[in-house]
Amino acid sequence: MSNNVLDGLYRPKNVAVIGASSTPGKIGYTVVENLIQGGFEGKIYPVNPKADEILGLKVYPTIADLPAGVDAAVITVPAKLVPQAVEDCGKHGVKGLIVITSGFSETGQHELEHEIVEIARRYNTRILGPNIVGYLSNTEKLNASFAPFLPLVGKAALISQSGALLIAMDASTYTRRVGFDKLISIGNMSDVDFADTIEWLNDDPATACISLYIEGFKDGRRFMEVSRKSKKPIIALKSGVSAHGAAAAASHTGSLAGAAKVYGAAFQQAGVLQAGDLDNLFDLTLALSLQPPMKGDNLLIITNGGGVGVLATDAAERYGLPLKFAPADVQAELKKHMPEFGSAKNPVDLTGMAGNEWYMDSVRYALPHEWVDGLVVLYCETAMTDPVEIAKGIKQAIDESGCTTKPVTVSFVGGEKSAEAMRWLVENGVPAFGAPDVAVNTMAALREYARMREMVADNSQVEIKADRAAALKIIANARTEGRGSLTEIEAKQVFTLYGLPVTTTILAHSEDEAAALANKVGYPVVMKIVSPEILHKSDAGGVKVNIKDEAAVRDAYRTILANAKAYNASANIHGVAVQEMAPWGTEVILGSVNDATFGPTMMFGLGGIFVEVLKDVTFRVAPVSPAQALRMLGEIRGGPILNGVRGEAPRDKAVLADTICRYANMILDLSDEISESDANPVLVYEEGKGVKVVDARIILKKK
Ligand code: ADP
Ligand code: MG
Repeated sequence: MSNNVLDGLYRPKNVAVIGASSTPGKIGYTVVENLIQGGFEGKIYPVNPKADEILGLKVYPTIADLPAGVDAAVITVPAKLVPQAVEDCGKHGVKGLIVITSGFSETGQHELEHEIVEIARRYNTRILGPNIVGYLSNTEKLNASFAPFLPLVGKAALISQSGALLIAMDASTYTRRVGFDKLISIGNMSDVDFADTIEWLNDDPATACISLYIEGFKDGRRFMEVSRKSKKPIIALKSGVSAHGAAAAASHTGSLAGAAKVYGAAFQQAGVLQAGDLDNLFDLTLALSLQPPMKGDNLLIITNGGGVGVLATDAAERYGLPLKFAPADVQAELKKHMPEFGSAKNPVDLTGMAGNEWYMDSVRYALPHEWVDGLVVLYCETAMTDPVEIAKGIKQAIDESGCTTKPVTVSFVGGEKSAEAMRWLVENGVPAFGAPDVAVNTMAALREYARMREMVADNSQVEIKADRAAALKIIANARTEGRGSLTEIEAKQVFTLYGLPVTTTILAHSEDEAAALANKVGYPVVMKIVSPEILHKSDAGGVKVNIKDEAAVRDAYRTILANAKAYNASANIHGVAVQEMAPWGTEVILGSVNDATFGPTMMFGLGGIFVEVLKDVTFRVAPVSPAQALRMLGEIRGGPILNGVRGEAPRDKAVLADTICRYANMILDLSDEISESDANPVLVYEEGKGVKVVDARIILKKK
């Protein structure tokens, strides 16, 4: 058992209740009552200056009167009295405080919250909360909360940022038959947060799987770091698609980076499964707390009904686990356990005639077979079979197969008896669901979990040697001129310092200089306005492409200046950039935001309407590993375009992925300076020919 600083809080040997009350209906009463009813085996110490006895327990007038060696104290006194209570507990050596009281940062009382944390720190006392329902643990028989009862016994732990949801989920554990060992209300996270708790749960023998309900938190990077190291599956339900950052966004990326997308990216990179909704959170929790991960892509489905078999097949495709035909030896063997008109291909259809025996023979044979990575067993209630018998048969066959390293999920479609059968299965460690779709969805999650863990384990990064000092100099220069952004020329210089391939771009201050530069760069050239006030150059008529000779250069120079002046008469114009014209390629956009929670974050999407209209983009928190970068390319809906469409050669994905990694390194290295940036577009050429950044934009952090 661990000797963690949080043991006092999460595994207390005794509990004090500060603000215990003898008045039923008060929280201070409910907590004492719950501690007793939960069956807590350690000492319970109610503290109240005005009572002698509460629910048969001796009451202590003050904290100082308590015996020595108090592990945890539940605090229920009004907010303004909490600092004193924390002080007294600290002095008395209490290790963990469960601060139920509300009226802190959630109502704007940031000072008060800060104060209690400061006091607790002085005594090395840890605080859970404030503004929480409390803490419940079946192992400890501890209901230190005002939630009515301990949850259905199970192997999962829930950490919830919403107290109301935690109480609701507590009750639903019984109706949904999804068991939890612990429910942790994390509230304002003034001290103990998700990351601390996940770390502690990793050493908790009673926890097999960690489920989270997240509204939002501050230190996204620490959460990622801890989750990445987690030996136990983590499933997160994130609520709130807030538009933070989007409102004031100056770049394309900024307007596309909603918090939800960045959280989603962070979950990916940290190996955290994301639940789509509350139902999904329960379903995944059940599957992940009972079954091992699925280590390969070969899913075998065994069914007694063609219909549910087809539904499951569709679902498998939808959830990224498309079915393959079983190999010949598997088919030949399974054929022995079904009538002539059955099918052994996959789904394996034992037909409606299937009884216990056939199910058992098939499961016992298939599960350990080297080809099979995971098994979904489906059953439609029939007149000839007893669902409970079938359930017991399936479980017995799993056990007899001797295979414990591959996951099995089950779905029974039917009535009361099927429900009873599934209940039996769950109680015996086999996740069972009323819909075939869910059995497959949870299996896909078991597969996804294994995939994510592999990627997380491979934390290789692209090595770059960048000239940071030179980049900072360019940025400092722009700042001395009072600018909040770099010009395209400056931005491309910074990009170059980080190894990103950009088009040669040189500033001309006069028509003659432009002509001379164009001759040097080589025709055709592109010319663009360079002005700190004109960020979107095309909008101002500030971009001319495919300029073929000197006369056209001179003409373009004059036109661009005239257009810029007409667009914004007060714009400060540095000149006109002359640059090499890159050949046609597939247009993509790379960009970055400095997310409030996760810091520098990369975006990738296809250019043009894909990004503007379809918002078909994907994110990763920097740094981005090569494997993650490649995954980004496949993640967007337009991804297949990079494989080459309508006779085009496949695009250079390797170099594009490498470019994403380098870009991510740049924004991480310069995270104190860059708030947003983009390379829009980057042209991607056929395999072996690389990419070219033709436009660059860097918005500086306000200082
Ligand atoms: P802005 O985005 O500020 O309007 P860009 O520099 O992106 O200006 O230029 C507009 C478009 O012109 C680009 O999307 C790209 O299609 C084309 N373009 C710009 N620079 C080049 C270049 N050097 N080579 C080829 N095409 C270019
Ligand atoms: Mg552009």
